[in-house]
Formats: sequence, C-alpha cells, structure tokens
Amino acid sequence: MNIHEYQAKTLLKSFGAPVADGGVAMTPAEAEAAAKNLPGPLWVVKAQIHAGGRGKGKFKESEAGEKGGVRLAKSAAEVREFAAQMLGNTLVTKQTGPAGKQVNRIYVEDGADIARELYLSILVDRATSRVAFVCSTEGGMDIEAVAEETPEKIHTVLVDPAAGYSPYVGRKIAAALELDGDLVKQCVKLMGQLYKAFVEKDMALLEINPLIVTEGGNLHVLDAKVGFDNNAMYRHPDIAELRDLTEEDEKEIEASKYDLAYIALEGDIGCMVNGAGLAMSTMDIIKLYGAEPANFLDVGGGASKEKVTAAFKIITADPNVKGILVNIFGGIMKCDVIAEGVIAAVREVGLKVPLVVRLEGTNVEKGKKIISESGLDVIPADDLDDAAQKIVKAVKG
Ligand code: GDP
Ligand code: MG
Repeated sequence: MNIHEYQAKTLLKSFGAPVADGGVAMTPAEAEAAAKNLPGPLWVVKAQIHAGGRGKGKFKESEAGEKGGVRLAKSAAEVREFAAQMLGNTLVTKQTGPAGKQVNRIYVEDGADIARELYLSILVDRATSRVAFVCSTEGGMDIEAVAEETPEKIHTVLVDPAAGYSPYVGRKIAAALELDGDLVKQCVKLMGQLYKAFVEKDMALLEINPLIVTEGGNLHVLDAKVGFDNNAMYRHPDIAELRDLTEEDEKEIEASKYDLAYIALEGDIGCMVNGAGLAMSTMDIIKLYGAEPANFLDVGGGASKEKVTAAFKIITADPNVKGILVNIFGGIMKCDVIAEGVIAAVREVGLKVPLVVRLEGTNVEKGKKIISESGLDVIPADDLDDAAQKIVKAVKG
C-alpha cells in the first residue's frame, strides 16, 4: 500500500525528521488559505498522486501544461492560481504511464533554498535479507538515469538485523553523501529516525528524492515516497486509514475485498487460476501462444463459491477481456466448487466472450459434470497446453 507525499511527511515528522511545514488542499481556495498559514516568501505547490516524476511531468488539457506538478510560487495568489491549474487535471509522468493520473489533492509547502540535492532510500534487500540504505550524491529528478549511466555513484549500506541501526551506519552514509561537519551529525540522527520509522511501520520502501542540504546548512526531507508491506497492514490501523482508493485500480480494490490476489494487466485474456505458480505459468503459456494476459489472478487454496463468483465477475467487468481461461488444479481447492462458482457468476453477469475451462485434480469428474450439465457454452480443455491454445484461438480466430 502506498500513501501520498504529504501523508508520508506527516508520518516522518512524527519520528522527528526535519520536514517543512505545509497543508493539503482539495480546492484552490483551500490552497490559498494553506499558503497564508506559511511564512513565505517562497511556496511550493505539489500535485499529490501516487507516482514520482511530478516535477518533470506534463498536464493534459491544462494551462499548467509542461510546467509540471511541482511549482514554486511567490505569493498566496500565485499558489491559488497554480492549484487551480492542477486540480481536476491529469498529470502524466514517467511513472504514471501514458494514461496519467488525475490530481485530486495538492500540497502547499514552505519553500526551501536548496544548496545540494541528494538521494536516499531504504528498502529490504532480498539477496542479503537486510534493511538497506541506498544513497547517492546525485539526487533530484533522475535517479533512474544515474543508476543506468553512472552506477558507481550509487552506494548501498546494509544494516545488520541483530545490531540494528547504529551511528556507524549513519556515518557511512554521510561519507557516501560527501557530507562534513555538523551535517554528519544531522545525517546520523536523521538516518536513525528514518530507520526507526521504516521498521516500526513495516515499510517496504522509503524513498527521499531529494534529500536536500539547505543554503542554511541543514538536512531536509524535500520529497517522500512511502510504501508499506500489505501483509503487515493489520498491525497498523492508523496507516490503513491513509489509503486513498482513488489512486488504485477499481478491479484491484474489489479483489482485495475478497482477499483475492489480483493484478490488472494490459492484455485481453482474463485468467482465473489457483496458486501463484500456476497463475504465472498460465500467463507464460498464453504469451507463448501469441496473446497477452489481462490479469494475474490467484483465487487461493481453499476458495469458497462466493470468492470464485467475485473473481469471475471482476474478470468479466474488464472491457479489455476478449476471452477467459479458467485453469484450476484441485488440491485443497475442489473442482466442483470452482465449477459452481463459475456457473453462478455466469448466471448473474452473463457470458459475452469465449470461456475455456481446464480442471484437474480433486473432484474433477464432479466439476466437469456440473459444467457440461449447465448448458453453458464452455470450451473444455484437457491440459494447460491445450487450454492456452484453445483460448488464444477463440480470441484471435
Ligand atoms: P518529483 O518530481 O515527483 O520527484 O517531486 P519532488 O518533490 O522531488 O520535486 C521535484 C523538484 O522540485 C525537486 O528536485 C526540486 O528541484 C524542486 N523543488 C521541490 N521543492 C522545492 C523547494 O522547496 N524549493 C526549491 N527551490 N525547489 C524545490
Ligand atoms: Mg522527487
């Protein structure tokens, strides 16, 4: 689960991190009022969407156009004007994809004078099973380019889980960021605060790009992107409340209500599969036969008829879906339960596209019988290979 920049900054502030003052706004008038609460003479107006690259982003159909989703204003009136240009409009950045994201909230912040822009992130390094600080002197808008062109400028500092964070880790980071004097002390303190926030709140990613050195010689969190480990959300009801559903795919929201592992994709073959491994190989084999999956969907081990019905409905509601492949290996999952779920869903929402069903395993004969007696226009398949070829043929002709 991801949260907005302003929410991330509020959270980091509660751990003591140096973050500028600011206020969130849903209307231009609120933006102006938020600006008047800040001292000036510089304000920053920032589009709040769950994607980075806003500064270099472009608005569709707005006067803000090429000026992007992060703008410096010199007066409260200008803040209001910029807010009006952003709110309700679609911002396209490198991370949103060509469709872009609609800006529904903006953040008005006290502007900083920047001497240096640095890069810092914290994540779990799977290879070493350790929390890793990744940092670079080349902060700002294009860390992806730095990683590609000058990877030697990106440094990783790992934290021993038994020892936890210690000032030694902070000093290593300070050295990598070429900080000296009082800035080293500030760095050691800030890294400790960020580490604590990361661990206590079960974050999956904490990215500060840029972390700045101000003209006054202080370290400051200028941008913040935070993602949490979904499996730990039950421990953090306060964080779960920060979820902004308007930022998420509607089909994924619906799926999460039924505890289905669903990810929307770009292709045209909807897949309903049990088990993540089988779901992955189903996607692979669809590609092998020249088509693209419309989704990843794992209905899980012991899915109920209701869960299967919900899954089927989510797939059919996707206008991109031109055909559906149900591929179930009944282990804990019983084939007859799947068959009943599919039929219940089809009765409710109808079936406008070809449907190939491959069932194998527990209660397979019962499952096949239910489907064949249902009178539905289902194309049965014997194995994974056969199923993939049949659905691709049905869709592509
Ligand atoms: P992103 O483009 O989505 O990553 O948004 P950021 O919050 O990182 O802002 C993009 C850029 O805007 C930063 O790298 C800075 O160069 C600039 N910027 C953001 N806030 C301020 C500020 O308070 N003062 C100044 N001078 N520049 C800022
Ligand atoms: Mg940034």
